Amino acid sequence: MSACKDREQDPRIEGIASSIRVVPNFPKPGIMFQDITTLLLDPKAFKNTVDLFVERYTGKDITVVAGIEARGFIFGPPIALAIGAKFIPLRKPRKLPGEVISEEYVLEYGTDCLQMHIGAVQPGDRALVVDDLIATGGTLCAAIKLLERAGAEVVECACVIELPELKGRERLNGKPLYILVESR
Ligand code: AMP
Repeated sequence: MSACKDREQDPRIEGIASSIRVVPNFPKPGIMFQDITTLLLDPKAFKNTVDLFVERYTGKDITVVAGIEARGFIFGPPIALAIGAKFIPLRKPRKLPGEVISEEYVLEYGTDCLQMHIGAVQPGDRALVVDDLIATGGTLCAAIKLLERAGAEVVECACVIELPELKGRERLNGKPLYILVESR
């Protein structure tokens, strides 16, 4: 695990990177699972993570933070509260009780889907999408599409971790992506 290049200077990054546990072969053989539950056990690392995002997005006129199920629900709400934006959950199918719009996306094997409540965002909203990690980029790509279909402008995507070898960034069609640490 290493600091993202342009943030190597920030002394908080090292503590964040070293608090993330990597579990080989979970949930299946060949996957190096990046476990952020160990980051959450370290209050300083957790606070520094949220602070770095809050510092970046304060004063940027973000009106909505959209968190992706499930680990985007951990980092998204404290960022939303600190910058004075609303929080909306982007959820797996059949979890949201109201009327929804859906976006399917391709996984390594099969497909998955994200849903968003109709009316949660309005045309003109400026959105930040938050998740713990970008791998192939399929999940973030679906999130961007949902928000844009509802008329929001997606300003940036923010993740704690990037797996750069999977080139997920390339699937975001030029949408800016901000990450704190890279893992190989
Ligand atoms: P992707 O759509 O391929 O970018 O996958 C990103 C989503 O899958 C995120 O919500 C991550 O939480 C999860 N994910 C994918 N790969 C990993 C990994 N190696 N470790 C932890 N979470 C992962």
